[in-house]
Amino acid sequence: MLTRRHFLTASAAAAAMPLAPRRLWAASTLTLGETRIDTLSDGNLVLPADFILGGMPEAEAQAIVARHALPTDRLTPPCNVTLLRDGTNTILFDVGSGPDFQPSAGKLAEALAAMDLTVEDVTHVLFTHGHPDHLWGLLDEFDEPLFPNARHMIGQAEYDYWTDPETPNTIGEARASFAAGASRRLAVIADSVRLLADAEEPLPGITARLTPGHTPGHLAYEIAGPTPALILGDCIANHHVAFERPDWASGSDQDPALAAATRAALLDRLAADGHAIIGFHLPEGGIGRVERAGTGYRFVPG
Ligand SMILES: [Zn+2]
Repeated sequence: MLTRRHFLTASAAAAAMPLAPRRLWAASTLTLGETRIDTLSDGNLVLPADFILGGMPEAEAQAIVARHALPTDRLTPPCNVTLLRDGTNTILFDVGSGPDFQPSAGKLAEALAAMDLTVEDVTHVLFTHGHPDHLWGLLDEFDEPLFPNARHMIGQAEYDYWTDPETPNTIGEARASFAAGASRRLAVIADSVRLLADAEEPLPGITARLTPGHTPGHLAYEIAGPTPALILGDCIANHHVAFERPDWASGSDQDPALAAATRAALLDRLAADGHAIIGFHLPEGGIGRVERAGTGYRFVPG
């Protein structure tokens, strides 16, 4: 009889083959007092550049992207899942893409294994939003939660949006699969999920911050510490156009005007207060801070 346990054990044995190539999975680390934050690579996405640059002044946007030594026809943003350990809890912020979105992503389980962690070790999963690269790693091969011991949490407004039966009809053809994928997965945790309001503290030292626009109920999470850190999700979703021209509407945002207002206000505050940021799609593991640069900003990794 093939139980779930046997299946996972077999997979783990296959992953431990001595000749299998190893990647360095812990992308970067930040220590805030007793709290340790690591970012884990879920891999990367492969997107037509238009997905992010669509709607921007084309020549100027391409010049910014080229200045960052990136190709202008397609973008391959990294996906950084944040792992926070405070001595008691083992918390993931988002769960990556899982196996069903893009072949270059969905590598989180391997990243955890490289940290000597198992899916059973995770005590909480806090979602920033319901997009595939953040949510679709929620379930295992048997459509059960991949992290069986974890308490799952997501913003109330975000949950309401993706579980609204009208959303597949109103989100637009290009994103209809996002809606179907999110509602199917959220249905599995409907009875146990905790829904968060703006400014709520889901766990000691962690505060939810409503940062809407990329999606209707997007949450960032503020981590208390000697120097606080903000887990951004996708409210600042790249290190090029989003930093240089936060006011520009982006094709990747569901409500581009609201997202631009959220992004501009956040960058202004983060450049002033010097807090650490952890961005899901920012380079070099995603940990860094914001500096003013000319009329815009720049991402300073580390
Ligand atoms: Zn994303």
